[in-house]
Amino acid sequence: MDRNYILNLQFTTNEQTKIVCPRCGVGKLACVPKSIFMKASAEIDYVDPESCDFVVSGILACTFEECRYPISFAGIASTEPAYDQSPSGWSYHDTLTPKFFFPPLPIFQIPKNTPSTIAEELNLSFSSFFNDTLSAGAHARNAVERFLDENGVSGEINAKNGNKTKLKLHRRIEIFKASEESLAMRLMAVKWLGNEAAHGGVLLKKDILDVYEVLSFVIDDIYVHRSRAVRTGEISKAIECKSK
Ligand SMILES: [Zn+2]
Repeated sequence: MDRNYILNLQFTTNEQTKIVCPRCGVGKLACVPKSIFMKASAEIDYVDPESCDFVVSGILACTFEECRYPISFAGIASTEPAYDQSPSGWSYHDTLTPKFFFPPLPIFQIPKNTPSTIAEELNLSFSSFFNDTLSAGAHARNAVERFLDENGVSGEINAKNGNKTKLKLHRRIEIFKASEESLAMRLMAVKWLGNEAAHGGVLLKKDILDVYEVLSFVIDDIYVHRSRAVRTGEISKAIECKSK
């Protein structure tokens, strides 16, 4: 998804967004007519409607006729004058700023064969992205923990007294580094930003987008590229056996 577009995501009720449908990947999302409900946060000033704040809810749906996948949203809205085809040449247009989507809007595409434990944390992160970046960062950090679970790095170790001791994320990434140096270096970057979230620091949307870019690369590398490498290797061997 376009980085600047998602950082400043706003849309109007009568135009298609640039958000590609997460289900079909063909259509774009657009407001469903008559699904939008707006209410002024205070008494409407009809002389100066631009001074009013509104809350809004509605449904976006895929523009591809055979899909029509719907996503609901809630957020805030403002109204501003804009040139149009009306008799006066202009009218007030509503600009909507979403704060929540359900189902969550995937900021990057999670590959289909990604383990559900990782996908669940990523979806929780996406669902917080527009309104609570610390929560989005904390869930992204959890996604790294689940990624290590799924890739053979235990979350605990046997202590000398026989008890199990929980390993910190930093240590787990170091263990992963022994076999996957390049990916581990990237996961460590996600961990640093995730620590900000865990300690109540400051995380901006652009920081979270950096995290998503890194995580998307790591996940694609394991669950798309290597998965295809294994599959095509098996196919090649099968073809070779047949031809002998
Ligand atoms: Zn669609």
